[in-house]
Amino acid sequence: LRAAYSEANPRSAERHERARRSLPGGNTRTTLFYEPFPLVFDRAEDGYLHSLDGDRYLDLLGDYTAGLYGHSNPVLTKALHAAIDEGMSFGAQTDREERFAAALRGRFPGMELLRFTNSGTEANLMAVASARAHTGRSTILVFRGGYHGGVLSFGNDNAPLNVPHRFLLCDYNDVEGTRAAIAGKAPDLAAILVEPMLGSGGTIPGDPGFLRMLREEATRAGALLIFDEVMTSRLAPGGLQRALDVRPDLCTVGKYLGGGLSFGAFGGRAEVMNGFDPAGTGARWAHAGTFNNNALTMAAGLAGLEHVLTDSALHELNARGDRLRGRLSAVFAEAGVPFTVTGRGSLLTFHPVSGPVSTPADLANANPVAKELLFFYLLDRGYWMARRAMVSLSLAISDQDCDELVATVEEFVAVHGAALR
Ligand code: PMP
Repeated sequence: LRAAYSEANPRSAERHERARRSLPGGNTRTTLFYEPFPLVFDRAEDGYLHSLDGDRYLDLLGDYTAGLYGHSNPVLTKALHAAIDEGMSFGAQTDREERFAAALRGRFPGMELLRFTNSGTEANLMAVASARAHTGRSTILVFRGGYHGGVLSFGNDNAPLNVPHRFLLCDYNDVEGTRAAIAGKAPDLAAILVEPMLGSGGTIPGDPGFLRMLREEATRAGALLIFDEVMTSRLAPGGLQRALDVRPDLCTVGKYLGGGLSFGAFGGRAEVMNGFDPAGTGARWAHAGTFNNNALTMAAGLAGLEHVLTDSALHELNARGDRLRGRLSAVFAEAGVPFTVTGRGSLLTFHPVSGPVSTPADLANANPVAKELLFFYLLDRGYWMARRAMVSLSLAISDQDCDELVATVEEFVAVHGAALR
């Protein structure tokens, strides 16, 4: 498979080799690398990507959830062109910053006040720092398989660059174990940082009862509950916090909400966030950042929320994903091929295990060869998804695209099913 892939994509191979002279690994996002070399793209429109080698791929990955609007939504490109014409890098407060913030505040119940950052990583670092400063405590409870940015990664494939001793690690969806860990650490617990569905850890939904327990125990311990909704905010209007009716003290968002540009935001209860008010009477925490309110992100993000991402558009996108996940699960189940498709709404992951999958430990026996086989099979048929077998639908993916994907996965099962059983 790899040999056929290499032969079919010589220009990507050559470009990758050249890139390695400037960039360790050939690019600056670890997740984009896969053996023998990643495809290199030079153009994108709507739901499609075009490789240097002249092939067109249906973009099932949607930039790991950041590409929800597709590659060329006319509302966003118009807003961006207008913003460019109005000038960039104001180095000052701008009108769109307030309008964008107001639009976000109305959307997420846990965001009474918020501030912008350049990425989800920064948003989480700021949320964690705020929780520590607000409580005067140091420990942060996190979960195995959780991913909150490059320096806040817990048990994903890559070795974390974080500082481990301040983190208490529990198993995702483990109600009793986590409750006991919180009780043991309560006096020093500043916050519980959790994705309401593990994202890069495998799109594994949090059980509502587990998330409600975290809410109760955080309150009891005097710690803050932080929901990282960088990925999950797209799964319902108001994010999973609204869909599951669990209100965090702080929450972070990012990715698609910046309209496809660098973006992050953190926010929460006014009592905590007021610590960032330089004219306030409480704490006076600094939060600077040259590009926090950059003109292009503010313009694209605002246009997306005002004109594209209506509640009904979001419902339709997530309903399409739910139908797709159900049909893909059925293909594997009916053929008796050990693949489990987890996720919620427009986000899903193919796991080469029999299932059920409710925590990353359930993936211990995953068959890496099966995952690689599916990845290259779909690639060969013109589908681009994450090497970790994650799909994140964009608004540019149609029902017909989903029908064709299901048919292709049926074909995969017919060709390779016997070897995988
Ligand atoms: N939190 C979650 C849940 C994420 O999925 C990501 C990105 N994959 C981040 C934080 C980090 O966001 P960014 O890549 O914008 O720094």
